[in-house]
Amino acid sequence: MAGVMGWPVAHSRSPAIHNYWIRQHQCQGAYGLFPVQPQNLQAAVRGIQALGLAGCNITIPHKVDAMKWVDWVAPLAQRMGAINTIVVQADGALHGFNNDGFGFLESLKEAQPTWRADAGPVVVIGAGGAARAIVLSLLDAGATEVRILNRTRSKADELAQEFGARASAYDWAERNNALSGAALLVNTTDQGMHGQPALDIDLAQLPSSALVSDAIYIPLETPLLAAARLRGNTTVNGLGMLLHQARPAFHAWFGVMPEVTPALWAAVKATF
Ligand code: NAP
Repeated sequence: MAGVMGWPVAHSRSPAIHNYWIRQHQCQGAYGLFPVQPQNLQAAVRGIQALGLAGCNITIPHKVDAMKWVDWVAPLAQRMGAINTIVVQADGALHGFNNDGFGFLESLKEAQPTWRADAGPVVVIGAGGAARAIVLSLLDAGATEVRILNRTRSKADELAQEFGARASAYDWAERNNALSGAALLVNTTDQGMHGQPALDIDLAQLPSSALVSDAIYIPLETPLLAAARLRGNTTVNGLGMLLHQARPAFHAWFGVMPEVTPALWAAVKATF
């Protein structure tokens, strides 16, 4: 058994994804929702092993704090400063991983199989947890230039300084000009999410060949993606990232590397 710990967590699509694969591969198991309040996180994480779970996903707001309560954190997750997956080892030890960057890169490749990280400058809007995972995975995949723009400039500076010479921070006011010559634009803010205003950006300077990606998946097409599609850019929504990040976790827990198929997309979309 496995599940996802978050607070609140009722909206999570992870049960729809993992239970689909459990049925598809006829695994003996189930994936549930664990609403865990922040003050109970330590007890909940340490309880995974005692309950006999194979592991757990960790989501908002626990991705950073949960690192403190596992026995080992994978080097990539350490660099990201957060975990989104715990796998119980044969000896009972809890190992923490972060598959968000993997999920992001795989979702780009699914949308555009010829996509390459070194195709040209990348513009990342936002500098929170999702941005950390995305910027790091892009740099590891060979991105030559990552332009980071965040409403709070200091957070963009921190990311750029930490991630080295190929990442640079720009003022929020520069976000329209920063699109010039870009091969990829990624929104990692919550602007455009259901209940939030659209991301305030003008795409006029973005080449029409650029890929436009949004980490948000509710709605599936944010105003940013709709505007990009209308001007001819290929778009990638955040559901692909969510579906693909789940694959290595399922593999670790249930022993099968599952695929993201059109039928899975349809099953998860049907929950919206
Ligand atoms: P976070 O750490 O709280 O970061 C939020 C980011 O949004 C910050 O950069 C923040 O800028 C920016 N922001 C907030 N309000 C803004 C506004 N009014 N104008 C401009 N920027 C604003 O959150 P997160 O964990 O990175 O998540 C961000 C988004 O990614 C969420 O929509 C989440 O659902 C999505 N996500 C998706 C996946 C997936 O699998 N698809 C995985 C993880 C996250 P400041 O620094 O200035 O506050």
